[in-house]
Amino acid sequence: MVEKKYDVTIVGAGPAGCSAAFFLAKNGFKVLLADKTTFPRDKICGDGISSAALNILKEMEVLKKIESIDHHKIGYVKISSPNGRMMTGRYPIVKNFRDYGYVVKRKEFDYVLFEHVKALPNVHVLENFRVENLVYNKDKVTGVAGSHGEEKIDVFSDYIIGADGVHSKIAKKIGLFNDKNKHRAFAVRGYFEDVQDLSDAVEIHYDSQVMPGYCWIFPTGKTSANVGVGVFNRFNETKEAKELFDLFVRNNKYAKKKLKNAKMKGPLKGFPLTLGSFGSKRSSGNVLLIGDAASFIDPLTGEGIYYALLSGKFAAEAIKKGEPNRLAGEYYEKMWAKKFKNREFMPGYLLQTLMGSRIAINAAVFIGSVSKKRATNMAGVISHVLPKYKMIF
Ligand SMILES: Cc1cc2nc3c(=O)[nH]c(=O)nc-3n(C[C@H](O)[C@H](O)[C@H](O)COP(=O)(O)OP(=O)(O)OC[C@H]3O[C@@H](n4cnc5c(N)ncnc54)[C@H](O)[C@@H]3O)c2cc1C
Repeated sequence: MVEKKYDVTIVGAGPAGCSAAFFLAKNGFKVLLADKTTFPRDKICGDGISSAALNILKEMEVLKKIESIDHHKIGYVKISSPNGRMMTGRYPIVKNFRDYGYVVKRKEFDYVLFEHVKALPNVHVLENFRVENLVYNKDKVTGVAGSHGEEKIDVFSDYIIGADGVHSKIAKKIGLFNDKNKHRAFAVRGYFEDVQDLSDAVEIHYDSQVMPGYCWIFPTGKTSANVGVGVFNRFNETKEAKELFDLFVRNNKYAKKKLKNAKMKGPLKGFPLTLGSFGSKRSSGNVLLIGDAASFIDPLTGEGIYYALLSGKFAAEAIKKGEPNRLAGEYYEKMWAKKFKNREFMPGYLLQTLMGSRIAINAAVFIGSVSKKRATNMAGVISHVLPKYKMIF
């Protein structure tokens, strides 16, 4: 048994864990950033990085590194409706935000983030360390226990951050795992090459055969794209995302044209999404949950990288602000509730409900196709630079 001592142990080194590690380390905290895998590792995703997420990457001093690897710049959103109409919205110019986003393959994106925080003096990383349990002293959590290959390790720290994604062990251990079906979605994605007619637009298609669900074509380069289909569990428990993907790729008039001569590279892969909800807590004592572990994915778009990065920053701020009285949990609850709960998740669910209706989507896309202002607003909501109500008003 090996024992170690840190100020904060972060379980999971995806975008959420890396963000928390960065902001804690910058504030002088000694951090262990642990992950069950070794980097680079893949993460099934649409690979879309919103304008709002770019701001946090800049704060993390990593944006230039991301821009130095393969990335595709996005300035437009195209949305098609079940009746086949298409609208195009330009990312709006909003103070303090870029009017563009990126598509970057997660394998590379996460690796750059991981290497970036690994280089910080206060961050110690431990790969191939699968956390299995929390360690208690009486009622207080004092660390985590897990396996590093054959070796069993206990790590002791003042705080634990659960950044361990959709299946979060830490959330389960503190009784805050969000397993509500209505807060879940499932999505599949495949990478295609020799794709035609791609531009600087991400495409979201509400296809009549796939409803209620959504499809996307996100260009990863001039002739390559991440293509996927997502299904919200609350609308759909029977249709298989893989079947819907086949229908989309084979029959959708926009997909068919783009993918006519394209080849899928690698297998089609699927993964669940934990959508933002507003009912429960995201911390217990000195244990805080961030990113997918805290169920922080946009219920409207399925975007989670922005919330992962922002919640990592919030957790670090809450820990700093909460010292020496150990009030981090209280601060953290207030921070995410103020920024995510009413402003993002509540309206996100309302809009998600509308998305279950063909009539509503047909109407929204029609309006977006005849009004440039409405189309720009929709693009602004999707790129997270405008509040959700702008989708309608
Ligand atoms: C198909 C699909 C498409 C998506 N498309 C987009 C998109 O285009 N844009 C967007 O913004 N979001 C998208 N999302 C959501 C996005 O992928 C997530 O919100 C984001 O990855 C959350 O980051 P995270 O750091 O919280 O979790 P993750 O990226 O999942 O990282 C969690 C880490 O924890 C580690 N871990 C897990 N368990 C343990 C353990 N017991 N011990 C140690 N380590 C552990 C894992 O190895 C992993 O590295 C999509 C999701 C899916 C499924």
